[in-house]
Amino acid sequence: MSAPPSLRNFAFPFEQMLRPKTLAAGEQGTPAAKPRLLGTPASADRLHKPFRCPGSATSTRTTEKPARKRRKVNYAGADGENEEGDEPYSNDDRLALATRDINRFPVFKPKDKDTAFKTKFIVPLKNKDVGGYNAFRPAPLLGMRQGRVFVARPLHDPSGEFAIVLYDPTVDDKPITKEAVEPKLSQEEKKSMDEPLVHKSLAEILGLKKKVDDDRPRVPVVIDPRLAKVLRPHQVEGVKFLYRAVTGMIEPNANGCIMADEMGLGKTLQCITLMWTLLKQAPDAGKSTIQKCVIACPSSLVRNWANELVKWLGPDAITPFAIDGKASKEELIQQIKQWSIASGRSVVRPVLIVSYETLRINAEELAQTPIGLLLCDEGHRLKNGESQTFTALTGLNVQRRVILSGTPIQNDLSEYFALLNFANPNYLGTRNDFRKQFENPILRGRDADATDLDRKKGDERLAELLNLVNKFIIRRTNDILSKYLPVKYEHVVFCNLAPFQKDLYNHFIASPEIRSLLRGKGSQPLKAIGMLKKLCNHPDLLDLPTDLPGCEDFLPEDFVPKDARGRDREVKVWYSGKMLVLDRMLASIRENTNDKIVLISNYTQTLDVFAALCRSRNYGCLRLDGTMNVSKRQKLVDKFNDPEGPEFVFLLSSKAGGCGLNLIGANRLVLFDPDWNPAADQQALARVWRDGQKKDCFVYRFIATGTIEEKIFQRQSHKQSLSSCVVDASEDVERHFSLDSLRELFQYRPDTTSDTHDTFKCKRCRKEDGRQVLKAPAMLYGDTNTWNHMVNDGETGPLGKIQDLLLRQEVAEKEVSAVFQYISH
Ligand SMILES: [Zn+2]
Repeated sequence: MSAPPSLRNFAFPFEQMLRPKTLAAGEQGTPAAKPRLLGTPASADRLHKPFRCPGSATSTRTTEKPARKRRKVNYAGADGENEEGDEPYSNDDRLALATRDINRFPVFKPKDKDTAFKTKFIVPLKNKDVGGYNAFRPAPLLGMRQGRVFVARPLHDPSGEFAIVLYDPTVDDKPITKEAVEPKLSQEEKKSMDEPLVHKSLAEILGLKKKVDDDRPRVPVVIDPRLAKVLRPHQVEGVKFLYRAVTGMIEPNANGCIMADEMGLGKTLQCITLMWTLLKQAPDAGKSTIQKCVIACPSSLVRNWANELVKWLGPDAITPFAIDGKASKEELIQQIKQWSIASGRSVVRPVLIVSYETLRINAEELAQTPIGLLLCDEGHRLKNGESQTFTALTGLNVQRRVILSGTPIQNDLSEYFALLNFANPNYLGTRNDFRKQFENPILRGRDADATDLDRKKGDERLAELLNLVNKFIIRRTNDILSKYLPVKYEHVVFCNLAPFQKDLYNHFIASPEIRSLLRGKGSQPLKAIGMLKKLCNHPDLLDLPTDLPGCEDFLPEDFVPKDARGRDREVKVWYSGKMLVLDRMLASIRENTNDKIVLISNYTQTLDVFAALCRSRNYGCLRLDGTMNVSKRQKLVDKFNDPEGPEFVFLLSSKAGGCGLNLIGANRLVLFDPDWNPAADQQALARVWRDGQKKDCFVYRFIATGTIEEKIFQRQSHKQSLSSCVVDASEDVERHFSLDSLRELFQYRPDTTSDTHDTFKCKRCRKEDGRQVLKAPAMLYGDTNTWNHMVNDGETGPLGKIQDLLLRQEVAEKEVSAVFQYISH
């Protein structure tokens, strides 16, 4: 080692630190000593020294000394004395030595994350002056502290990428009128006069008291970006409308509205956005507009709402209180009580989701608690202003109301009044005011023998009413969706009955049972209607021959009674016209495409037949009916929507409460039988043609030609085109048939291609061959009269040129008699 002695100090700083005196003495006392021998006297020295514990106080102090100071050792003369034996050091050498690792300043390694975040830190102040800032000054005593400076800023950045501003103080703020402020002031004054003077706090005496609330700055209300980025433009518009309506920005004395968008436009998402915004934000910085929200809905939708909250807001955003009937009655009352007394920070479940029935029963428990927002899903059930539900709901202490309804409001003034009066109590005055002001003049004006003056007055009042009312109603139709969705081809497919079906049908409607029914003597029209509907699907839905006495004569040779079938469950598709068509369709899908299809029926027995058909043809299928719980449903749906899944058929009961079921894995759908309630059918149809669908959709609504199904379908379309109210339960319809309409129902017209088309008295189709010669100027979804009408008259006919291959192949067969076609865009 040729290092000069001076360098030792660098090379062994530790050693030096331990015995600085000895070393210094050694250097000065034995200047000629060779460097390589230096170690030995040092070790010897150490032996003479008393032992010192390395952890002792002195040594610690030494180590703490900054390393740099060590350089102050006097090196004078060290170089010169060693000149002879060693080469002089060049600057490069010195530099190299000086930058040796050990001589560098300590390198900062990243600290352990956990400890680093826990340590205190001091904010470096921009204008740090010695007098004003002292980091070591103790914190001021409690009570003397000035409140933290409140920075007024919106919860979400109003200039961000996805920012949708619902309220902007620079635009929307109206100056508060004097009347609104004055009573508040006088109250405060009164309060301060009542206060005893002695109880002033120190802070108050010193003038340090925080100013309370007076001048909270106004900030923009901005939709949470996670919602804003999933909202469609029409939904943004909807949320803006809802927000303005419920915060009194449309009319200061009205805080309610009606959201009547058609199914599939995302009413739920719009309402969740509104609710979330109100719960988290207000124009007053840092405050919320509401503390609690109640969602009232049919009991079958309670879970659905809870799931939607998670779906849109994420799993941790909100814990709803969903009353889904799992708790016992006592538990439930306890929970509701707790919910209603909670306020401020103790509101841990701000959203109560409850069925109308439960809400009605427990309205008393909830009467006192202030409810910031009440959402009424399927709100058209509030159209009866006298119903118990209506009364119970109006008894609640609610500040804002939103009625959701997918069905248009009936052209009925009292219904209008009931709904709007619920949303905005007293906005239209009392029922009597309304009658005097609007209802009577309008009705009088419409009367057949009304005078011109009456008419004029009626029209005026109607315009006035609509002006008042339309401010609070938003309704958009499905058409605006077509921008985002692929084309939907919807078809009404009229299928002839199979010969066996036809015999049974004729036999049944001529039976003594039906005859006495039509004379007004029978008592079970419901049962008869049900049997006919089932027969239209497939004779296997009935228990033959028991259900139809006397039908033995028509039973085909290959017919096997149900109980004699044993393991032979093969479906005889040729017993039913509709089933034959379906069978061919499935085969064609399987052979020519990788599409998936949803099959829907009102009857679980039809699903049984479908399932048996799929089994015998080796088609993978999944089945969802009313017996299945929500989590299982979801798994099934996910399985089906998986593009890799082998199951290409999904069997769905229309009674399963299809709300929210998203079956976009399929782009074809068969509605095997019509329902009395068009809304139910619409709901079923909306499973496939909805957000996320990428392929063109083909929807087929099967109707047995000339049968009761046509009558049901006609009733449906009639209702839709009149946009009248929807009856909630199909039983209601079936119960209220006049004898005339019963007679109509129990007719069978075997000679027509479509009884429905006949009722149109369509002028666009030729009499001789039924071919359409003129397209309708505009295709209206709700009116099948404007759809394309096609008869099945062979390959050269219109059906041979239809866009859909499944229907095109039907020209070779006789089952399909006619098709109505609707193209979305
Ligand atoms: Zn026509």
